[in-house]
Amino acid sequence: VRVRAGREAYRGDAVVIALAPTLAGRIRYDPPLPPLRDGLTQRMPMGVALKVHALYPEPFWRADGRSGVSSTDTGPLTETVDNSLPDAPGGVLTAFSYGAQARGLRRLPQDARRDALCEALAAIFGPAAARPDDLVEYDWSADEWTRGCFCGVLPPGAWCAYGPELRAPVGRVHWAGTETATRWSGYLEGAVTAGERAAAEALAQLG
Ligand SMILES: Cc1cc2nc3c(=O)[nH]c(=O)nc-3n(C[C@H](O)[C@H](O)[C@H](O)COP(=O)(O)OP(=O)(O)OC[C@H]3O[C@@H](n4cnc5c(N)ncnc54)[C@H](O)[C@@H]3O)c2cc1C
Repeated sequence: VRVRAGREAYRGDAVVIALAPTLAGRIRYDPPLPPLRDGLTQRMPMGVALKVHALYPEPFWRADGRSGVSSTDTGPLTETVDNSLPDAPGGVLTAFSYGAQARGLRRLPQDARRDALCEALAAIFGPAAARPDDLVEYDWSADEWTRGCFCGVLPPGAWCAYGPELRAPVGRVHWAGTETATRWSGYLEGAVTAGERAAAEALAQLG
């Protein structure tokens, strides 16, 4: 197997590709991937989530007897958690928006998005939440090497049509990445066990 990355080149007896399927599909293969494996990479997009940290001078919600944990289906924020550091001053509410609501927020100019986020936090935690010292957001969908959050997802029909291609090696090319995990898929634990499984599979193949 020969792998080229910019000016670097590597040779090996096998390769493990530890990427979400849609990102793995952006690599150029020679010979090209078999149609069903390539079909899977076309049908497993990254999820859409927006994660934001709201920084306050103190975790004011605790004084009201609140945990900072919330969950709602009315949006635009789907859930929040108290993410304040135990040994640092200040309070942090970490909030998530998912799917269509996250897309709606992304389409807003930054100032309008911040206003919408502050309004949503205030609707849950009261007026003090509307005035964070700072809002920290990172657009994982814009990151060239991630392109979404939290992981690749199978839309209706894709699993039945292309499921067998998720883990099946293509010659000496083996597939890891959290999406291939049989447990904790989409989480760090799944990424680790998927890497172990793919490495064991490659070693077994090489005898
Ligand atoms: C905002 C956010 C919050 C999350 N929170 C949690 C959490 O609280 N708990 C949890 O368990 N999981 C969480 N996750 C999910 C967790 O991050 C993933 O499940 C895990 O990182 C997947 O690991 P991976 O090795 O499969 O892929 P990745 O971690 O995506 O690693 C793939 C690597 O390949 C690189 N890469 C991409 N394309 C190429 C290419 N063409 N050539 C070479 N390298 C390439 C990337 O830069 C990256 O370093 C979160 C994810 C996001 C985005």
